[in-house]
Amino acid sequence: MEQIKNYIDGEFSETSETLDNFNPALGKVYSVQPKSGSMEAIAAVVSAKKAFTKWSATPLEKRAEWLHKIADKIEERIDEFAEAESTDVGKPLWLAKQMDISRSIHNFRFFATEIIHKKERSTTMSDGSVNYELRQPVGVAALITPWNLPLYLLSWKIAPALATGNTVVCKPSEITPMTAYLLSQVMHDLGLPKGVCNFVYGTGPDVGEALITHPAVSLISFTGGTATGSTIASKASAQFKKLSLELGGKNANIIFKDADLDKAVETSLKSSFLNQGEICLCGSRIFIQEDIFEDFKKKFVAKTKELIVGDPKDKNSFMGPLVSKEHFEKVKSCVELAKKDKGLVLAGDEDLNLPDHLKGGYFMRPTIIDELSDCSDLQQKEIFGPVVTLRSFKYPKDAVKWANTTPYGLSASIWTSDLKRAHKVAAQLDAGTVWVNTWLKRDLRMPFGGVKESGLGREGGEDSIKFFTESKTVCISLS
Ligand code: NDP
Repeated sequence: MEQIKNYIDGEFSETSETLDNFNPALGKVYSVQPKSGSMEAIAAVVSAKKAFTKWSATPLEKRAEWLHKIADKIEERIDEFAEAESTDVGKPLWLAKQMDISRSIHNFRFFATEIIHKKERSTTMSDGSVNYELRQPVGVAALITPWNLPLYLLSWKIAPALATGNTVVCKPSEITPMTAYLLSQVMHDLGLPKGVCNFVYGTGPDVGEALITHPAVSLISFTGGTATGSTIASKASAQFKKLSLELGGKNANIIFKDADLDKAVETSLKSSFLNQGEICLCGSRIFIQEDIFEDFKKKFVAKTKELIVGDPKDKNSFMGPLVSKEHFEKVKSCVELAKKDKGLVLAGDEDLNLPDHLKGGYFMRPTIIDELSDCSDLQQKEIFGPVVTLRSFKYPKDAVKWANTTPYGLSASIWTSDLKRAHKVAAQLDAGTVWVNTWLKRDLRMPFGGVKESGLGREGGEDSIKFFTESKTVCISLS
């Protein structure tokens, strides 16, 4: 059984106690990881702090070279990374390769070039003096990530943090640690200076809290659930640490009567169920204008029933298992609650038809719920699984009102052929990102983040560079 190891100060190490790591397709333990505590977390912070002086003074072209080397090495091992991500999370292998690992490579390359090509200083002349802005690395960054897009979200943080001269301690989710471990091997094999990037495995309360409360950690970039985000914010703000929070979502997918219906149906299948619906940007509430409601529903339900749920290693599988037994039970209980709240299950109850070796896995069919009562909790709470609700609307203002009723505000999608409407509705929605006639397209130069309980701050392109640096104004007298 593979033993995942911490990577602290350029060395791999184990702990006396371990945590099991499950393959969710089989429902069986397939590797173990360190059950680290504050001792390991502190050792990693101390190492990062020591490495900061030299790394922050490394010319940015050199730092960019390191990021390119890391990207190249992951690319060389892309099949191994994709296999590991698919086994750990349960996502289809084709998706891990096309989306997770490819986008992770792109993250490293993007920030490697971003720091070289972007002029980030502003200058002013006034009253006999010249002012310029100096942007300097913040120090030691704690990077805490969830289980749904493990390598992608980690690389989204590591790349800009290192590019701008910070040193880091990563705390990947204990549920999906494997690709972080592979990444630490890549860095080690390349000879990245010790202490620049450390990896500590263990639970949030044990390792995460030790990191966020350590006085030498100056910056925290967190992606995860809203409740955890709130705990982290209250602890970090007491020490005035720089903080970025990418949190949960309950995103609306609004389909107007003038939409290209076939395209809206095709993309809604993905925005509802891709990665088992375990993407914070999935559109779990679909609002459809009443004129096309029946048409959309018929097509969407029929196509959903055709989706193949099965072995993540089979290229025909659209969905694999949910990530863990606990999460599977939570999502299933949400469907039961929907039934109690008078929801009508239009898809999801069909047989799974799994081969014997997958019978212990956490599989469920993509589920569509109609006619759910307005007061149901499910209209408000994030489910984070392959479950969507349908609702028809008459007037655009109703769709906007319902879309904005949740405490979340991460993203939304609009389907329409009326450009004026697209602009108007996009401006009215409480969301950090609004897609029009598409979903999940990302230009990394654009800001990414959420409003309301979906987060605090923005990352991406210039916003990441700003977040991972401190700004200083230098004023020089010319007299
Ligand atoms: P959690 O909030 O449970 O965990 C996220 C990370 O925080 C994990 O590494 C976890 O460790 C750690 N953690 C837990 N408690 C603490 C603590 N007290 N102090 C420090 N760290 C802690 O989220 P999930 O892993 O369940 O991920 C799913 C959530 O992530 C969903 O709500 C989803 O919407 C959100 N998400 C948001 C995205 C965005 O960009 N806005 C993108 C992707 C997901 P461990 O689990 O090992 O205990």
